[in-house]
Amino acid sequence: METLVIDHPLVTHKLTALRDISTETATFRRLTDELVTLLAYEATREIRVQPVTVVTPLGESAGVRLDSPPPLIVPVLRAGIGMLDGMIRLLPMADVGFVGLVRDEESLVASTYADRLPADLTGREAFVLDPMLATGGTLETVIAMLAERGVTSVTAVALLAAPEGLQRLAEAFRGDHPATIRVVAAAVDQRLDERGYIFPGLGDAGDRLFGKV
Ligand code: URA
Repeated sequence: METLVIDHPLVTHKLTALRDISTETATFRRLTDELVTLLAYEATREIRVQPVTVVTPLGESAGVRLDSPPPLIVPVLRAGIGMLDGMIRLLPMADVGFVGLVRDEESLVASTYADRLPADLTGREAFVLDPMLATGGTLETVIAMLAERGVTSVTAVALLAAPEGLQRLAEAFRGDHPATIRVVAAAVDQRLDERGYIFPGLGDAGDRLFGKV
């Protein structure tokens, strides 16, 4: 598994504002959207393309266009929805599938309550959106669901990751896994706290994006 932490002043600037407890919902949403577009730029670095030739007003030019079938974007409900627009901005042709997982706050084990993914993902590239890669349990489940359906690659896009979650994914998808697994994050924080929150993190991303329900 490959992990890419985006070390860029604009990313860190926006992330710092997101972390700030005084940042209100409207600003938090806007910053998440902007941050995801910046992360999407790096997350799509290996996306498959085909060579094409176009005719400019002056002559022929070699270029590329994104390969088909189009990539699949999978926001993990609920907080991943806050990342969808920022990702689609760079991949407007992508299909979108949805997965819902809820974490038991005692055991920290995630269980699936929604699955709207294509049954056959043979040869597809997938981008999973989940702002907080904490224990890694949710992403492990979603990546396994996608891999069972035949994806060639999964790139997980997270705002923040914990070392514990990255370690878990690296162990789950080590060596000769048939799909290429990547994680792209704006930062890796110190650790998980006793409630499984990323420390110092930014709190509950779903609550900060959509309010406490
Ligand atoms: N989910 C969140 O929203 N925040 C965390 O810190 C961990 C999991």
